[in-house]
Amino acid sequence: MQALNTPYFHIQETDLDKDVSILKQALTDNWGNWIVGYSVKTNSLPWLLCYMKEQGFYAEIVSGTEYRLAKRLGFPDNQIIYNGPIKEKEIFTDILLAGGLVNLDSSEEPAWLSELSARFPDRTFSVGLRVNCDIASLCPDEVLVEEEGGRFGYCYENGALAEVIRSLSALPNVKISGLHLHSSTQSRTVNVYGALARTAVKIAQEYGLKLSYVDMGGGYFGGRDDKPDYRDYFPAICRELRAAFDPKETVLIAEPGVSLISRATTFATTVLDVKHIRNHVFLVTDGSRTNLNPLVTRHVYPHHIEYTDAPEGRPTVPSQWVTGFTCMEYDRLFEIKDGPALQKGDRIIYDTAGGYTMCLNPLFIHYFPPVWVTKRDGSLFKARDQWDVEEFMQKNYTEGDTLHE
Ligand SMILES: *Cc1c(COP(=O)(O)O)cnc(C)c1O
Repeated sequence: MQALNTPYFHIQETDLDKDVSILKQALTDNWGNWIVGYSVKTNSLPWLLCYMKEQGFYAEIVSGTEYRLAKRLGFPDNQIIYNGPIKEKEIFTDILLAGGLVNLDSSEEPAWLSELSARFPDRTFSVGLRVNCDIASLCPDEVLVEEEGGRFGYCYENGALAEVIRSLSALPNVKISGLHLHSSTQSRTVNVYGALARTAVKIAQEYGLKLSYVDMGGGYFGGRDDKPDYRDYFPAICRELRAAFDPKETVLIAEPGVSLISRATTFATTVLDVKHIRNHVFLVTDGSRTNLNPLVTRHVYPHHIEYTDAPEGRPTVPSQWVTGFTCMEYDRLFEIKDGPALQKGDRIIYDTAGGYTMCLNPLFIHYFPPVWVTKRDGSLFKARDQWDVEEFMQKNYTEGDTLHE
């Protein structure tokens, strides 16, 4: 690939194709009747959303902003999955009327539905319910994201879910058509997805629900050799679902995000300076922890190095710290121990990087880095330009500005 100016994110289209095809094949082999959604929040790069639309994905959205973005890029209302703890009433209404999918999560949505059903007595409204179940007791070995458990959906154990089912059942033209089981855990085991599918079976049986869909959410691993992928998750999910559901009647929905794109995404940086401070060596690069891990929780950054010349001829250095461009002391990515001395111009390429952070990237010191795509035919396409002052100044007003009173 020609040497592009760093820093930049890079997407390899053939790698996207690969994970999309693994997903679809796993769904076809194990269930047959499926819909795939793409989680817009994971990475809302417009080029990527168009790619997913081309591949037949619905847009899985969790905000009004994401709704407007998906609409702008051509997703029709009936190919939108509206999730999230806070929804906008008007969008909720539009999507339901158009036959899109809405998974209820909040205290106010059942009331909106009650109003809607009275306003449109001749229409039938199909909705899904997001389920909150006690994963710690179902899968004691699972590593949770938060110790106290998930906070989304209606709680099965304390009767909140039963209460919503009861209140919606009282509405003549409202049908509970789906269950939504998205629950992210840190360990993302195949086991937890089996347990979630079993929970869908249990709930459907307990409340006599005839479901037209089961939405297993996202949160999978994908594109990594050391972890399970869709070919492991869906056999386990579908084995459980068969206890209560038939693929002829019930659609299986998956709405992954990062597992679809992490194989395809990298972040390229260059060493700009080598600084010797007392007995430490700091390699100053034009990428930052803020580009890769803005929440500063990670200590491992899979990467490879492209040396400007043969590294074999270079002295070995006991410790070199790779650091970022920011003026924050914590902006240190990783330590190279007993490696060849890096020099100005060497490139550090972060692998499986940028899935989330291409967009979950703070506008701090520098603005969004550009995104380059290597297309199937090998050509390069610029999907996003470097954001600069022009973009940052949008919708900002200064006191002396006469255009905006
Ligand atoms: C975030 C999210 C996803 C996608 O999660 P990944 O970990 O990126 O796969 C899917 N569904 C819902 C409801 C989400 O909030």
